[in-house]
Amino acid sequence: MLQPDFEKSNGLIPAIIQDFYSQKVLMLGYMNEESLEKTRTEEKVTFYSRSKQRLWTKGETSGNFLMVKKIELDCDKDTLLISVVPEGPACHKGTDTCFGNKANKSTDLGFLERTIQERKVNPKPGSYTNDLFNKGINKVAQKVGEEAVELVIEAKDNNEKLFLNEASDLMYHYLVLLAAKGYELNDVISVLRERHK
Ligand code: AMP
Ligand code: ZN
Ligand code: ZN
Ligand code: ZN
Repeated sequence: MLQPDFEKSNGLIPAIIQDFYSQKVLMLGYMNEESLEKTRTEEKVTFYSRSKQRLWTKGETSGNFLMVKKIELDCDKDTLLISVVPEGPACHKGTDTCFGNKANKSTDLGFLERTIQERKVNPKPGSYTNDLFNKGINKVAQKVGEEAVELVIEAKDNNEKLFLNEASDLMYHYLVLLAAKGYELNDVISVLRERHK
């Protein structure tokens, strides 16, 4: 396993914490060798707190632990990038990230896709998404067509709210159709990237 160069920075190196799914930067903390070791064995982020001057497992009082998915080192081995699945808001002020700025605003649809995929594997009583899955691919595809037509109609009007609602309906049903066919948005993105070359 790759080991950071702790010597270079007096035993303490920064660890950038990134959300595994949304890719958002959540927070930054410092780690010494012991905290990294603990983070690796427990698969839960533990920093070395410079203010507390002790190991600090993020979530130790709040319960908002950061579950580790992947640990990477930067090019010169003096910074960590840790991908996590947070169990609650990473920021002690209650927001999901400590960087609530525009730079962190992503157009990621993972939050919706994950729920759709989750419903497929684990049906939930009363779920509209499961209704759609149960009706089958043809029916879902037909819904996509209907929503597309509704969007076309709203595009001609100037009601911003209705337009955005129909755009959202279309996007949702489109994602359900992809899932019903066994695909995910990334499969579409791959095709688009390939075309873009
Ligand atoms: P926690 O580790 O979530 O149980 O929080 C314990 C304490 O650590 C809080 O009361 C804060 O003082 C501090 N803390 C927690 N999360 C952060 C954060 N994202 N940035 C800075 N300090 C934090
Ligand atoms: Zn570096
Ligand atoms: Zn914060
Ligand atoms: Zn609609």
